[in-house]
Amino acid sequence: MRFRIFLLAAALFAMDVAFADAIRQTKSDHYDAFRQLEVDLPTPNVYRTASGAPGSQYWQQRADHRIRVTLHEDNRSISASETIKYTNNSPDTLRYVWIQLDQNRFADGSIARLTETASRGENGEDVLRYGTLARAQRNADVEHGFKIASVTDSRGRELKHTIVDTMMRIDLPQPLRSGQNTSFSIEWSFNIIEESVIGGRGGYDHFPENDTYIYFLAQWHPKLAAYTDYGGWKNQQFLGAGEFTQEFGDYEVEITVPADHIVSATGVLQNESAVLTAEQRRRLNIARSSDKPVFIVTPEEAIENEKQGTTDTKTWIFKAENVRDFAWASSRKFIWDGMIHRQEGGEFPEVLAMSFYPQEAEPLWSQYSTQAIAHTMEVYSRFSFPYPYPVAQSVNAWESGGMEYPMITFNGRRPEPFEADEDDPDADSKPERTYSRRSKHGLVGVIIHEIGHTYFPMTVNSDERQWTWMDEGINSFLQYLAELEWEENFHNHRENYNILEYVAEYMTSENQVPIMTQSDSILQFGPNGYTKPASSLVVLRETVLGRELFDFAFREYAQRWKFKRPTPSDLFRTLEDASGVDLDWFWRGWYYSTDHVDIAITSVREYKVSTSDPDIEMELDREERARVIPENITQIRNREEGRKTRVDRLPELQDFYNENDEYTVTNADRNKYAELLESLEDWEREALKRAAIDDDFIYFVDFENIGGLVSPLPLLITDVDGNEEFLMIPAEIWRKDYRAATKLLIRDKAIASIEVDPRRQTADADFSNNSYPSRIEKSRLELYKDEEETRDMMADMLRVLRKAKDGEEDSEAVPLEPTGN
Ligand SMILES: [Zn+2]
Repeated sequence: MRFRIFLLAAALFAMDVAFADAIRQTKSDHYDAFRQLEVDLPTPNVYRTASGAPGSQYWQQRADHRIRVTLHEDNRSISASETIKYTNNSPDTLRYVWIQLDQNRFADGSIARLTETASRGENGEDVLRYGTLARAQRNADVEHGFKIASVTDSRGRELKHTIVDTMMRIDLPQPLRSGQNTSFSIEWSFNIIEESVIGGRGGYDHFPENDTYIYFLAQWHPKLAAYTDYGGWKNQQFLGAGEFTQEFGDYEVEITVPADHIVSATGVLQNESAVLTAEQRRRLNIARSSDKPVFIVTPEEAIENEKQGTTDTKTWIFKAENVRDFAWASSRKFIWDGMIHRQEGGEFPEVLAMSFYPQEAEPLWSQYSTQAIAHTMEVYSRFSFPYPYPVAQSVNAWESGGMEYPMITFNGRRPEPFEADEDDPDADSKPERTYSRRSKHGLVGVIIHEIGHTYFPMTVNSDERQWTWMDEGINSFLQYLAELEWEENFHNHRENYNILEYVAEYMTSENQVPIMTQSDSILQFGPNGYTKPASSLVVLRETVLGRELFDFAFREYAQRWKFKRPTPSDLFRTLEDASGVDLDWFWRGWYYSTDHVDIAITSVREYKVSTSDPDIEMELDREERARVIPENITQIRNREEGRKTRVDRLPELQDFYNENDEYTVTNADRNKYAELLESLEDWEREALKRAAIDDDFIYFVDFENIGGLVSPLPLLITDVDGNEEFLMIPAEIWRKDYRAATKLLIRDKAIASIEVDPRRQTADADFSNNSYPSRIEKSRLELYKDEEETRDMMADMLRVLRKAKDGEEDSEAVPLEPTGN
């Protein structure tokens, strides 16, 4: 329906609104979605500025480690000793230091094990999984956790120490003053966990077919707990979900393993000639200038090597500078390939990318692993800073999953054994293993993700124990970008994958907490810690800020906090500071609430401007009335029956009113119009005249915010001739009322339809209310055929077992990174 609208001379009210500090809304339930975050964020200081940058007196501690470790293959344990040099850069005097003993998470009596809760099924029934039972049995058979043999000072004197679950306090004989350093030594050993049974970020993987092993050691050495300007000594114990809060330092590590093992570790190998054959060194040198992966250990050599063991040992020496952790892997099964990745700028113009994997990972790994490493560096460096270390490695440590350490990552995905049909004459020429598209993209995806962690949090050193999203969310965001640059329509969980459609499902669910929730208390770890923050950054980049502003601000954040320790407020403040755009509403909605995006167009009203001239308007009114209000049906049917009215039959009954309807213009009307023109200011009279000439179409478009999260409105406006126009309305349209907004549109052509978010770029959860006029929803309906119910008890039993296994896998699945970290 079209209406005409009368121009109102606007009255401006001087609004004098004063807000007191403590805001109390007692009239109506108005909520200001744009209230600034300052009151909720920590007060800026000399360590962290209000602009989100490190302050003039920013400091962080330093811990350098020298370690000797021996792998005992006979009983799958390690024994080791280390000397830690700890430098106190804080302004404070320290009387004790805290050490992280992460391996204690697996020990009898640990908080993590004691507080594990029982599983419940979908309908609340009690569930015991095979995996849970096997884990309990293994824990009864094998003792896990650190055995600390000694803690001594630099002169070999025992230091008093107290173990508190996954931490240990060492009391210093003398207080450690600001600017001083101290050294102490620790000796320890532990039984390595079987990762597939116990579940962790390191351990060993056993191949029962030929009784071979891959060892991958993580959280394997006592290391300094973080001491920070915002939290003092970090004292949240390792419960399993919240990862690590780390200090930077240099590492020198001597790793003694069986002589037929190949070792991959954080850092650069120092003694090639002592541990590699002449041929392996020759190939390694070729890899150092090759743009494609080349083998250093070939598949054939690895298969030969794993056939028998040895009691001889070799010691591999690695050095790593300025890293926040150290991990390593060792096996006689490893195939090894490498290539060079060249990059502009940074300390390392050439980075050696390498992969280590067993024959069971072929043919997938030699084709994709090292290329995926190089691709990650190419994309991530563009968004942040050049890859900051000399090597980047991917190790196949397990069947599925992923975990990150500086310069080394543990990644899953192996192909499936291929079984040819018995009567297949070409069986011999068929491959031994095949893989699905999902496995291929799963492998590339997990390697991108884990190598990506070298940037966040291995270099931008956020506090993982507190904030999962600061590394996983940011990393999953860049992973998503890198996947779409690997291959179009990258198959990550679904075809034509759009992370925003995926997150919308999660954000409408009941069982969730705000992103700003401590790591170990998160409900739905994957969607909350990974997908939602990643999606928020996609919305920020593609919809709120645009690529140019976002990319500049994001790079600024990465560069400001490279090798430093950012907190959420440093990220929030930097992205606003560098983009010049107030984003407090965005952080408040996406990070501090569980609202979701669901915008509806509820009504569109079209108008023409009235000239107020009765000689024009009365005629238009008459036409409009005829169009809008149909003639009375009884009157129509009377006429159709040939019935004449009395007044028609008796003309003498007619008078003035029969010749003039209510739209006849009178002098009074014309005088009123003249008076109106008289009363207008010159500019108002001009505007009125101009409107009559332009004859624009005026629209009042009503939007409703159903989800609660304020969102920009990307609009697709299609006119009656089919021309399309995109119009981006910023989120500030909701600043007076976050639930409802009416937008005025003045157009020279009539609008045929309006659609909100046609390109799926806001994470809107319900598109059935995004179009005006609303559309008929189209899809195909499968015809339903009644089937007789039969009971195949044997098949049912098998299905139940199968389901229990699948269910377990599902429960550990993490979107973007299945069973990964
Ligand atoms: Zn991760």
